[in-house]
Amino acid sequence: MAPSGLYEKYRPRISEVAPAIINGKREAALSDERVSVINPADGTQLLEIVEADEAQVNHAVGRARDAFLRGSWSRAPLLERQAVLSRAANLVRENAEELAVLDTMTTGLTFAGATHGQAQAAAGWFDYFAGFLLNMGDDLYRQIPHVQTTVTRNPVGVAALFTPWNIPLMGAALKLGAALSMGNSAVIKPSEQSPLGTIRLVELLHEAGLPEGVLQLVNGRGAVTGAALAGHADVDLISFTGGEGAGRIISRMAAERFAKITMELGGKSANIIFDDADYDRALDGAIMAIYANNGAACLAGSRILVQNSIADKFIADFADRAKAIAIGDPFDPATELGPQSSKAHMDRVLSFKDKVRDEGGEIILDGARVPTLGEGFYISPTVSVAISNRNAVCQEEIFGPFATFLTFETEEEAVQIANDTRFGLAGYVWSDNLQRAMRVADALRTGYVLVNSPMVRERNAPFGGYGHSGIDREGGRWSLDFYSEAKTTVIPFRDFAVPTMGKSKE
Ligand code: NAD
Repeated sequence: MAPSGLYEKYRPRISEVAPAIINGKREAALSDERVSVINPADGTQLLEIVEADEAQVNHAVGRARDAFLRGSWSRAPLLERQAVLSRAANLVRENAEELAVLDTMTTGLTFAGATHGQAQAAAGWFDYFAGFLLNMGDDLYRQIPHVQTTVTRNPVGVAALFTPWNIPLMGAALKLGAALSMGNSAVIKPSEQSPLGTIRLVELLHEAGLPEGVLQLVNGRGAVTGAALAGHADVDLISFTGGEGAGRIISRMAAERFAKITMELGGKSANIIFDDADYDRALDGAIMAIYANNGAACLAGSRILVQNSIADKFIADFADRAKAIAIGDPFDPATELGPQSSKAHMDRVLSFKDKVRDEGGEIILDGARVPTLGEGFYISPTVSVAISNRNAVCQEEIFGPFATFLTFETEEEAVQIANDTRFGLAGYVWSDNLQRAMRVADALRTGYVLVNSPMVRERNAPFGGYGHSGIDREGGRWSLDFYSEAKTTVIPFRDFAVPTMGKSKE
């Protein structure tokens, strides 16, 4: 029995995952294709997803479209929507333990350090968008004499929401909170690796009073269920969080019919540590930035750039700390690093060690599968030093507990290395020289910069990346812009001469 007993407490509630949740209820299958969901902690099959095929996706989108046209949500008073989202926030908070356990079962993310926090953050997103509605106003302009121009917001239509396996609840709540608050209908497709928490979340939204047909969920693989959803002619808007490859495919599909998109993709973020930084805080921050969430974070500080004068000591201290990270059962409160999400992912993470050696770099801490932890996908942290930022280990997203160091001499060199990547999601700067920290933050070509700070997400601020890290932003009023259509209405309040045509023969 797992030390916390949480796995056993919720395990009997699941057996087989339905292909779709329509109106908060599990739908019968239209196809018999099954996808195995593996428990990363022991390598056994946890359950099977009955995959939603194209017909089932069509059904889900059709229901969402009908609900949108009926207007029970899309034209509902703001206060009604606000009340539903507030109730949803409370229900998520009350059920946070169960939601987090369901996601820990399938992802291997630690309950205490990762999924429970994500469940709380999910409640926070529903609260945030509920509050947004209370304060929402329209814009009014009077620059043209005697003419009043208003800018109002309409919902876009049917939103397709794609979430990745590493932030199932938080990703779902961010997208659902924003899409629903603006009056859209939605069809959400969680990762086929981690659908359980999101299914429960969708049930809770219905318990909170979401009208019939507004929200559906479809389950299955990206290339089957996901592709049918992204390619559906009645999907007006796509919010995608995931990898570059899928993002590219979906962007092309959306472009065919000019559907709105946001793409929240991967990263290879630089964590720049100057010799004038608070050493201990920078060390703590660097460890967290790469090893938190089992190393699977889009904004992981995976390239650690450290100034030459402190590099030897910093790398040695970092490796000592990494070596001491507690690896084990994700339900054990003492665990800091759980299993990798799948065998394929574990093998891919470890394969980067050979790349480091082939390219002339050095492995300082030789991360490997942990033999004492059975068939689970447990690996220990790797620490490497690359010889060039052009090495694969510095250019490819690894998405696991694998840190890579580079060293630099000057501020200019640090900025140049940090920006030498096709990604541009996040950047971290550690320096007690305020002007230097500000100069570097300003020069980084990334969508999010953290100065002397671990990851902190400000809900009012936009989140997203430059370059291959994505398109557009979500969060705060940027979500409002994305999930709504702006409408400009011009109304003169005094008659003025209407220009005429076709009156010359009078
Ligand atoms: P993924 O791209 O494999 O899958 C994401 C989602 O897209 C899943 O629901 C999947 O089923 C679906 N999908 C995959 N292929 C598809 C296709 N051809 N058509 C339609 N749908 C498809 O990503 P993942 O492995 O689940 O997540 C890891 C990635 O997500 C990393 O690259 C990480 O950096 C990124 N990520 C980004 C952010 C961000 O905010 N920028 C946050 C978290 C994760």
